[in-house]
Amino acid sequence: MVVPDNSGNESGENSLAMPVSHQLDPNDGKTANPDVQEPPDCAPTQLEAGFIPASTLLPSTQSHTQSLSRHSTLSATSLLSSFSSEDGEDIKLDRILSMVQDVTTEPCRICWVDKTRTHPHPSFRCVTGLCSGAEWKSFKKDLRFPRGKVCFFCMAPYGPPFNHEQPLPGEQRSPNHCDYPDVLKELAYILYARRPLREQIFARLGVATPSTLEVYKKYIAKRQNGGIFGAYNVIHAYLEVREEEALLQ
Ligand SMILES: [Zn+2]
Ligand SMILES: [Zn+2]
Repeated sequence: MVVPDNSGNESGENSLAMPVSHQLDPNDGKTANPDVQEPPDCAPTQLEAGFIPASTLLPSTQSHTQSLSRHSTLSATSLLSSFSSEDGEDIKLDRILSMVQDVTTEPCRICWVDKTRTHPHPSFRCVTGLCSGAEWKSFKKDLRFPRGKVCFFCMAPYGPPFNHEQPLPGEQRSPNHCDYPDVLKELAYILYARRPLREQIFARLGVATPSTLEVYKKYIAKRQNGGIFGAYNVIHAYLEVREEEALLQ
């Protein structure tokens, strides 16, 4: 059976994308059209484009042009610095990336979280059965992030510092582009499934602990206060908890 082009399998993501995508994200204008893949690093270009008409539409003397152009530069700079005021969020993502790079030495993320030492095995073969049951499978398939922000397969952000490779326009999404295939998605699920950890993490975030997987999924796939997605807040909070525990040992 041939699926019509205009009814892609991501319509669910698109409808979810709309309520959150109008806030604070300089790229969102580009993602409104589901057929257009946003180019990476488009924010500065978009800013420049926004300012160029202001300085070129006005007939002016050379000095006018210079002053307008200086004004444009200043405005762009101040806007850019307001975006980079999310430095705390960048630091969180940097930290998550280093963890993802380190954790590949432990192929089972469940044993990594539980701190159990056995023979090496992938998470889906773990004796705990945590990442092989029906609940895990539905979690894995049903997560819906706003389109164009997060890799469906591995949950890594397309933006920096991960800079996950994006499919070309018209190309089918595939896990072949994933550098760290299962790490983040599995971790997000394990941190929910291990209830004491879930409670510690949400206490640290100052958010009520989600009592069901559905509520948790909504939290992790939504930007929190216009910043990073809840999933990264959860994983970062866990890294803090883990670090503090290591210090106490
Ligand atoms: Zn294991
Ligand atoms: Zn991926």
